[in-house]
Amino acid sequence: MKHLIILGDGMSDHPVENLGGKTPLEYASTPAFDMLAANGRSGSLITIPDGFDTGSEVANTAILGYDLNKVYEGRGPLEAASIGYDLAQDELALRCNIITIEDGKIVNHHGGHLATEEGRLLIEYLQEELGSDKVRLIPGIQYRHLLVIKGGSKYIECAPPHDHPNEEWKGLLVKPIINAPKEEGRMSPQETADLINDLILKSQKILANHPFNRDRKLPANSIWPWSGGYRPAMLTLGELYPSVKKGSVITAVDLIRGIGIYAGLSPIDVEGATGLANTNYEGKAKAALDALKDNDFVFLHIEASDEAGHDGDLNLKLQTIESLDHRIVAPIIDELSKWNEPVAVALLPDHATPVELRVHKGEPVPFTIWYKGISPDKVSSYSEKTCANGAYGRLKLGEFMQEFMKV
Ligand SMILES: [Zn+2]
Repeated sequence: MKHLIILGDGMSDHPVENLGGKTPLEYASTPAFDMLAANGRSGSLITIPDGFDTGSEVANTAILGYDLNKVYEGRGPLEAASIGYDLAQDELALRCNIITIEDGKIVNHHGGHLATEEGRLLIEYLQEELGSDKVRLIPGIQYRHLLVIKGGSKYIECAPPHDHPNEEWKGLLVKPIINAPKEEGRMSPQETADLINDLILKSQKILANHPFNRDRKLPANSIWPWSGGYRPAMLTLGELYPSVKKGSVITAVDLIRGIGIYAGLSPIDVEGATGLANTNYEGKAKAALDALKDNDFVFLHIEASDEAGHDGDLNLKLQTIESLDHRIVAPIIDELSKWNEPVAVALLPDHATPVELRVHKGEPVPFTIWYKGISPDKVSSYSEKTCANGAYGRLKLGEFMQEFMKV
């Protein structure tokens, strides 16, 4: 049996008054989702472990069966994998934003919406000026880059810049975590914090004088490193499940791509995949089907409904759910029904992103598992409520992969 996970990011939601008290999943027209639920077996799944933020990287790692307490290292190492940097065991990787600072305050976390080429120009220049045998700045996408410190300690407190608009940057500089465990062969947390803060200050001097910023309304004038960690201690899915000899991840989101790579999946790029409602749905469906011909496991991630939830845009959220149903799930199931090779399909979100709250919520999410010949349970449509009454009942974290990979 081959395995395909179709993940609609942030798809689940809460009852909405304007929809007559229905959730977007209940209200939207989703014949393909409902067919899967009616012919498959469903349940609900806790995706956020106790003590963790409701981030997509946390939920997706948990869905793939990993114990976050053992493997969670923050965003830096995931971004490193995503841009193809093979992080060494003794390195610390941090997400490194280029941000805008004015009058001593953080104005934005994106340097005035830097384009990828602009960000690359600035990071490459900073690497020339600040790079050393300990420090490497590596260009990524748009304003999102990577800072790698050889022997750096992860026991530091960094402020995510998007959480602190209009705050004084000086008060948000990196601080060491007190009482951190002693680490053989690494700098102390204090030394690491001092080094990063020094890089921030130097980057501000260098970027202030860079010709790129001369006439720019929102100058890209400081680096801001955060969410640092080490190479995650993740076994690959092939090591965990012998049936997975070759697997792929299809996503427009760097963090999910990074998780997939540490899980041993090869990333597949789809032209026109944007992470937004205008994404190339047909291209992603085709890429998943093509991959399933010579892969045993495919993780297909679609971001659009999460973005609609963050925007608080109810109509857009309904549209993204219907697009996932009509333009991805329907053609995939149609095609797989004709194959001799059996493929088990799981459909689920990673967490709720309710349109009325516009943030992630860590409540259980609905899931359905279907393959040709499965004996269905009594669930007849796909929604938060209906799936909760399915045969799988309520699963926790790694239990989902254990159940899914059993079939
Ligand atoms: Zn998510």
